[in-house]
Amino acid sequence: MITVSTARELRIVCDDARAAGNRVGFVPTMGYFHAGHRSLMRQARHENDLVVVSLFVNPLQFAPTEDLAAYPRDLAGDAAAAETEGVDVLFTPAVDEIYPRPIRTSVHVEGLTAGLCGRARPTHFDGVTTVVAKLFSMVGPCAAYFGRKDAQQLAVVTRMAADLNLPVEVIGCPLVREPDGLAMSSRNAYLEHDDRRAATVLSRALQAAAAEVSSGERDADVVHRVLTGMIATEPRVQLDYAEVVDASDLTPVTTIEGDVLVAVAADVGRARLIDNMTLSVGPTSVDVDLGVVAMPQSAGG
Ligand code: AMP
Repeated sequence: MITVSTARELRIVCDDARAAGNRVGFVPTMGYFHAGHRSLMRQARHENDLVVVSLFVNPLQFAPTEDLAAYPRDLAGDAAAAETEGVDVLFTPAVDEIYPRPIRTSVHVEGLTAGLCGRARPTHFDGVTTVVAKLFSMVGPCAAYFGRKDAQQLAVVTRMAADLNLPVEVIGCPLVREPDGLAMSSRNAYLEHDDRRAATVLSRALQAAAAEVSSGERDADVVHRVLTGMIATEPRVQLDYAEVVDASDLTPVTTIEGDVLVAVAADVGRARLIDNMTLSVGPTSVDVDLGVVAMPQSAGG
């Protein structure tokens, strides 16, 4: 694995790979790798010749009140993890490399960014799409891998790539969970003991909602009440939203049918946590996609 920190070096490696007919796969991240990040790298490794991972804590997607300065970082640990996953190029730019001058251009995806996390974080998704568009330009990936943990982000980036005819396939990868159900997140590092335990209420509430739908409930309000009622039993968990939305356009639904995203966000201690599941509801069947539980890591892995 090579580590590069300038866009110029990165471009040379990626141009050479494409010129040789190789397929370039790309995983954009903010680092502090866990099994969720690693699953993206693994899938990229299987499907590409050259795998590029970027590690950049993007100031543009944090509001001034948010946790940019405190965001957890571990470059040495991340480099070791990326190496273990067979990553070819780790791109670790400084902020000045990505934003050498005040930025006057930004990418905004209308509509999909207004609800869910966009309500509490109105500038967040413009920061994400702007940096992802820049990183796509630097890497020139054939395929880019995003986790379904950030379901709204995946929908927004997919739409950006389609609307702008970006020559990249955006691939959604399964949400990875801890054995007790907590969705893996770099921000879980903020959770102190009691908060860590309380945080599992989010995935438990999603499971309870899935059970309701599996046993025939189709009223989104009822499912919403199941979610909020269960999350309210944990005083350490301050709910931001629990919503039942159409999986493709993220608009609220009243009746649960077709592909539906059930998404929650909450503050737990210092951490803002999100979680979700997708339901595929047909006339006679309900498929629940809650993601996968991380395989235990081997010693030193
Ligand atoms: P981040 O470093 O938090 O910006 O995340 C980088 C990528 O990893 C994004 O595409 C996330 O959706 C993905 N990711 C983060 N956590 C998980 C998880 N628990 N399961 C699957 N993908 C994840």
